[in-house]
Amino acid sequence: MSNILIDLKNLEKVFHTEDVETYALSGVSFSISKGEYISISGPSGCGKSTLLSLLGLLDVPTGGSYTLAGHNVTDISKEQRAKIRNKEIGFIFQSFNLISDLSVLENVELPLTYRTDLDKTQRRKLAEEALEKVNMSHRNSHFPSQLSGGQQQRVAIARAIAGNPSVILADEPTGNLDSKNAESVMELLDKLNAEGTTICMVTHDPRSASKADRIIEVLDGRVVADRRVSDIDTRALVGEESVTS
Ligand code: ADP
Repeated sequence: MSNILIDLKNLEKVFHTEDVETYALSGVSFSISKGEYISISGPSGCGKSTLLSLLGLLDVPTGGSYTLAGHNVTDISKEQRAKIRNKEIGFIFQSFNLISDLSVLENVELPLTYRTDLDKTQRRKLAEEALEKVNMSHRNSHFPSQLSGGQQQRVAIARAIAGNPSVILADEPTGNLDSKNAESVMELLDKLNAEGTTICMVTHDPRSASKADRIIEVLDGRVVADRRVSDIDTRALVGEESVTS
């Protein structure tokens, strides 16, 4: 059986607004193997969010193909996309996106309620287990506003992993955190990856990027570099950023 989880071939996304055509992605090709930890970086406007939306089945490409776990998901219906998204993809956002009037446990359980293959008891069990994994089960009945940013992101990570998805898509997961909380979130992602979770993370932070196995750099809607972190002098990577930022 193939070890490839995600395979993109010549993926293209053109936005049409009034008379303007914007090529957000112009022929992106790469694959991600099961268990890999990928970071995607590039300057603002280069197409990172568009790429993450396509990978997360939140939007459809205007060209090329996307194969997820051996299934061609390029041209499927909206309903099929939603179903596959719920089962196979976990999202982590920069701004946590927890629902303020739901408890921690309810927040983690929420995406599972769209899963027709799970009953109430199974959903509760999966949510509790996920919160234990991120060391937040002692806060199950708290509300998001009663937690620190770092704790909220841990809960958001529990929500992403609860349904045991094939891949976690993270969009600047440490962007709203101070360095101490950012480090603990990165350690948690490392731990999940060591346990077998495939992670694809968009980040402009070279320190976070260097935790991945591979760094894919995007510029003007194209992949301009795809390198294994073990082949890069990551001290230089972090140094480069501190010089330019
Ligand atoms: P990044 O995440 O790297 O900052 P984006 O993927 O958000 O980049 O954007 C890539 C390009 O596509 C930009 O030029 C942006 O203006 C354009 N774009 C993104 N979303 C839309 C949209 N919904 N409609 C029109 N243009 C868009």
